[in-house]
Amino acid sequence: MEPRLTAGPRLAEARNHVAGRWCGAASGRSRDNRNPGDLAETVSRSADSAAADALAAVAAARAALAAWRSLGPVRRGEVVLRAARLVAERRAEFAAAITREQGKLPHEALGEVDRTVALLEFTAGEGRRLGGATLPADDPRTLALTRRDPIGVVALITPWNFPLAIPAWKVAPALLSGCTAVLKPSPLTPLTATLLVDCFVEAGAGHGVLNLVHGGREVGEALVDHPDVAGVSFTGSVEVGRAIHVAGAPRFLRTQLEMGGKNAALVLADADLDRAADAIVAGAFGQAGQRCSATSRVVVDRAVHDALVRRLAARAEALRVGPGTDPDARLGPVVSAERLHACLEGVRRATADGATVVTGGGRLTEGLPDGYFMAPTVLDLVRPDSHVAQEEIFGPVLSVITCDGPEDGLRIVNGVRYGMAAAVFTRDTSLALDALDRIDVGMLHVNRPGVGAYPHMPHIGAKESQYGPAECSPQVWDFYTELRSACISY
Ligand code: NAD
Repeated sequence: MEPRLTAGPRLAEARNHVAGRWCGAASGRSRDNRNPGDLAETVSRSADSAAADALAAVAAARAALAAWRSLGPVRRGEVVLRAARLVAERRAEFAAAITREQGKLPHEALGEVDRTVALLEFTAGEGRRLGGATLPADDPRTLALTRRDPIGVVALITPWNFPLAIPAWKVAPALLSGCTAVLKPSPLTPLTATLLVDCFVEAGAGHGVLNLVHGGREVGEALVDHPDVAGVSFTGSVEVGRAIHVAGAPRFLRTQLEMGGKNAALVLADADLDRAADAIVAGAFGQAGQRCSATSRVVVDRAVHDALVRRLAARAEALRVGPGTDPDARLGPVVSAERLHACLEGVRRATADGATVVTGGGRLTEGLPDGYFMAPTVLDLVRPDSHVAQEEIFGPVLSVITCDGPEDGLRIVNGVRYGMAAAVFTRDTSLALDALDRIDVGMLHVNRPGVGAYPHMPHIGAKESQYGPAECSPQVWDFYTELRSACISY
């Protein structure tokens, strides 16, 4: 047996896993990844794979399909549960890997690991529920039923912002449903994905059932284009999601696309402003604003605008910015130079469009290691139609927009192409329920941070934030399985 992979304090090697074997890219190429909170540290060396590696992984998944499918959902659920236990056992190791390669602070990384364990446990239990229905038959002595069959080989393409939870919430239902899989994680976070696959392999999903190919766009495209891939579950940007959908359309490729957001917090005139400010700051600056559900717009009633902005600014300024090694840090780095540039460019365009910087607005370097640190930023007087109010920044940049009453607020909240999440702050139940009826998002929160839900609830967006069935809930079987019907006369 190969020695267990560990995330070291040393440079870790993030290899591919194909047909039950850990291996490098066929080309022999690799890439080094640095810690975004301290660029002096090289965290991992990962396989820099190409299309040929993707093809080998799909062939392995295809070869493993029949045996895995015949195992049945109960036994497969046991594999998922064993993987959950292994992730829980290696909690500290996972959290350290997430902090070092993604930049998340330790408490945020531990939160991601715990949520992942809960997700895996929930999915494992579904192995005893996955099935169809018996239905009334029109004819006597006839059994009418439906059943769910796995769709086949699936490709799972994931981003860097939840380097453990998102791969896990795709791998677990894929395998439980009887599909075999190729995981292609973000090239920015190869180590965490490798540790996850290590747990699944140890739990019994080796020999081609779960394959891992590190790399970037070329690997992703090769998976999407492969005729043996029956479905692609993707999380990432709208642009890449759309490209995957378009590429797969001629062969009716099944896609599940979880994409971006421009999420609003609507603060009405009767809201508890301290509670709203606490929740908005958690939603906007937690995980350095790099969540698809992160609050990036505040739409606030003119009557309470000044009082709310004062509270937001005070809370943002109190956040200590630092790397994961600083136990007092409350805002970590963003993941890459590209992300930092997007934040700075977002602020530049916002001010050019008439917004003012209430606090933050720039990169922080003083007293910090060499890393991608962005100051928590609050922008005011943001125009609802401006770039910063319409497009995802994906960093700790919060835009405040003023509205005149609930009607105007709802119109502004809905006035973007995205529909991932939203939060509403009011003491008036009928206004809250009105918002539930009328805000066009997948996930709504009232008087709480606009991020996250529970592992058994659908993770879903509306409009351009989502295409295909939800993740993280029983709805996920609508992606990984096909419904069949049968009528049996006896
Ligand atoms: P991205 O779209 O750049 O990349 C996502 C993944 O797709 C990566 O693994 C990447 O290598 C791969 N990829 C890139 N081009 C490809 C192509 N042409 N074909 C196939 N695969 C390709 O996104 P990112 O920068 O990694 O992540 C940030 C984005 O993810 C943000 O837009 C964010 O909102 C979104 N996100 C959405 C959710 C959600 O649940 N809706 C959750 C987290 C992140």
